[in-house]
Amino acid sequence: MFEKLLGNKSELIGILPEVRGKYLENVKLAKYTWFGVGGPAEVLFLPADADDLRTFLLRKPEAVAVTVIGGGSNLLIRDGGIPGVVIKLSEPAFCKMEFNGTEVTVGAGLKNSDMKKELIDHGVGGLEFICSVPGCIGGLLRTNAGCFKKNVSDVFVKAHIMNDWGEIYEVGAEDFNFAYRTSMFPDTWIVLDVTFQGIRSKPEEIKKILEEQANYRKAHQPINKKTAGSTFKNPEGLTAWKLIDEAGCKGLKVGGAEVSDMHCNFLINRGNATAEDIEKLGELIVEKVKEKTAITLEWEVRRMGVKK
Ligand SMILES: Cc1cc2nc3c(=O)[nH]c(=O)nc-3n(C[C@H](O)[C@H](O)[C@H](O)COP(=O)(O)OP(=O)(O)OC[C@H]3O[C@@H](n4cnc5c(N)ncnc54)[C@H](O)[C@@H]3O)c2cc1C
Repeated sequence: MFEKLLGNKSELIGILPEVRGKYLENVKLAKYTWFGVGGPAEVLFLPADADDLRTFLLRKPEAVAVTVIGGGSNLLIRDGGIPGVVIKLSEPAFCKMEFNGTEVTVGAGLKNSDMKKELIDHGVGGLEFICSVPGCIGGLLRTNAGCFKKNVSDVFVKAHIMNDWGEIYEVGAEDFNFAYRTSMFPDTWIVLDVTFQGIRSKPEEIKKILEEQANYRKAHQPINKKTAGSTFKNPEGLTAWKLIDEAGCKGLKVGGAEVSDMHCNFLINRGNATAEDIEKLGELIVEKVKEKTAITLEWEVRRMGVKK
């Protein structure tokens, strides 16, 4: 049945349940990713709130595949796009922030950088590193993102997730088994919100840390380019960028994609790259590093969707 749906886009939207949020048909996902590449979502669904999301999950035909995206800063979506329904939690109900002392509960759809002002106003520190990671809170937890010597798992208290039956659970660190840039996180779970443990801090101190971290990124990473950050995970005890550099990959190009001169674990879309260019460049790096060092780099960027 699903193969049949793929052939005719209007058929898919016609069999989806009525919702209060928005269905957008055949939306190019390139504009939702930091790489600026990616084919269309057959349907992009923006649920109005958690109830709406539950209605959708319970009533959609079982054969319809569901994929969740956040801020698109860790994604390489292939040129053929994503079949089925892509969900993005960007409506206001998913972008709230609530304080309980130094604990902060943040909606999965909030951009990490949008936490800054509230953290300063409430004098809650220890979470500045989160604000510097591109993307949104749901993706942050899913990827166990980290920087400046901290990982999300270090400040994680609990999260609310929805499973594919529309049931909401509160989950703690013991449910995730966090590891470097990953966790035991079932693909069917959708993060609704996350609670972090901050510390009492002075607003001027928080501002200072935020500024230092932003300056560090500007100086060391091509943050104003079309990129998805570190492409490969650091192998244990080693750094991926050094291995890539030593294998002579700095400046390497495939079509419109190139290895950044500034940070060679970052791949850049020079403006006209396809997802295929970027993926081929990544695979070429894996090959060259393996040839030189016998180490197989593992992708940190998540590749999704189908080839054209
Ligand atoms: C310039 C730049 C610098 C970066 N620096 C860092 C860094 O210092 N440290 C670091 O760790 N990462 C870094 N990244 C990578 C990226 O920002 C992080 O991995 C980020 O946490 C991804 O969040 P996102 O919302 O963009 O998720 P997406 O890229 O949209 O998705 C990532 C994964 O999360 C899943 N997901 C998203 N939302 C949800 C949800 N609500 N429920 C369930 N699953 C969900 C997706 O299905 C996908 O598997 C950088 C990226 C860029 C472009």
